[in-house]
Amino acid sequence: MTQPALTTLSDDEVLFRDSVYEFADRDIRPLVRQMDDEAKVPRDLIDRLFDLGVMSIEIPDEFGGGGATFFHSVLAVEAVSRVDPSIGVLVDVHNTLVINALLRWANDQQHRAYLPQLAQKSVGAYALSEAGSGSDAFALATRGVERGDRYVLNGRKLWITNGNEADLFIVFATVNPDAGYRGITAFLVERGASGFTIGKKEDKLGIRASSTCELIFEDCAIARDAVLGEAGKGYKVAIETLNEGRIGIGAQMLGIAQGALDHAVRYTKERKQFGSTIASFQGVQFQLARAATELEAARLLVYNAARLRDARKPFLQEAAMCKLFASEVAERVTSLAVNLFGGNGFVKDYPVEKLFRDAKIGQIYEGTSNLQLQTIAKQLLA
Ligand SMILES: Cc1cc2nc3c(=O)[nH]c(=O)nc-3n(C[C@H](O)[C@H](O)[C@H](O)COP(=O)(O)OP(=O)(O)OC[C@H]3O[C@@H](n4cnc5c(N)ncnc54)[C@H](O)[C@@H]3O)c2cc1C
Repeated sequence: MTQPALTTLSDDEVLFRDSVYEFADRDIRPLVRQMDDEAKVPRDLIDRLFDLGVMSIEIPDEFGGGGATFFHSVLAVEAVSRVDPSIGVLVDVHNTLVINALLRWANDQQHRAYLPQLAQKSVGAYALSEAGSGSDAFALATRGVERGDRYVLNGRKLWITNGNEADLFIVFATVNPDAGYRGITAFLVERGASGFTIGKKEDKLGIRASSTCELIFEDCAIARDAVLGEAGKGYKVAIETLNEGRIGIGAQMLGIAQGALDHAVRYTKERKQFGSTIASFQGVQFQLARAATELEAARLLVYNAARLRDARKPFLQEAAMCKLFASEVAERVTSLAVNLFGGNGFVKDYPVEKLFRDAKIGQIYEGTSNLQLQTIAKQLLA
């Protein structure tokens, strides 16, 4: 049987992707500049994302979700990020990290308690990083201590996406620091839990509308059954969800690069110098052609990793490669778009300087580029 191309989408996938993009183009695009300036996402827009179904893509039908695939999440993150990568990462963390972790690791009672809310109105956040543990994530210091029928959390998390909007947080803490990574445990913590506060919100270079916050736990008491998976197995929850999550970041980077290329094509066909459109110059055409080629290569890597994941085949190396490459392509294509806009590329009245700033985060979060290279090299040399 001949296999379809990686980029060949089913009718359902085309319909889904196009409806998400149409929404982003119509409802998100007019707000992009304001959200970037104010570093804030209006709650009303988040509500409309829930109504559209992009906040419950893989949640089974019985819990009010779309019952779709991981690949659909990748298509949604790409389509939204083409317009605004801040909303792209909000959708991405909610779906590919939080819901994904719950689908895999939560028990029946947790599924019943949280999946309907996450499908309807509650945003999720994923809290692993701390001031002293970024790339070395399992050096985390937040403690979870058993006290009677409760766990008491103490510590601080840093850089937590959706910190301002989220109602449910997956929080990684150690229940036994002497056991190293085998003490790490994932906890489900609700906004409003006593002893849990949201700290400083970061003022960032890019994806400014996406909230990135410190989380503070001071004798935060939560029920024993708030453990996600098993106590001491949180490292598995973290590794496995992040392996998948970084495909989502690859998709965010694809969206950014596609958005920048769309703008560059449109602008170069309009802007005239030396009596012709700048797109008529071969020097510009070749730059656009190279960008389109790199974008296609990045898309193949991202779609391949996502399809392998849905087919339950190994995808660790492919996920690392897709994030590594797509984030580099996003940086190059957005930089080219700034160049092709000339002076207009450098000012906020035009959209490409923002995409250039937004692209940078792809090489940092969910494992820096060096950490992706480390994963790839480990597989290569095993
Ligand atoms: C906007 C934003 C959103 C984020 N969202 C979240 C979130 O939702 N949840 C969450 O838990 N975290 C989140 N993070 C944290 C993010 O995952 C970390 O910033 C990232 O993992 C890097 O950690 P670090 O900042 O401590 O850098 P460091 O680990 O200190 O790295 C600094 C530099 O050293 C390099 N380096 C480190 N170790 C090695 C090594 N062994 N070999 C070679 N080079 C190395 C790195 O590649 C990097 O270039 C977010 C960060 C940002 C900026």
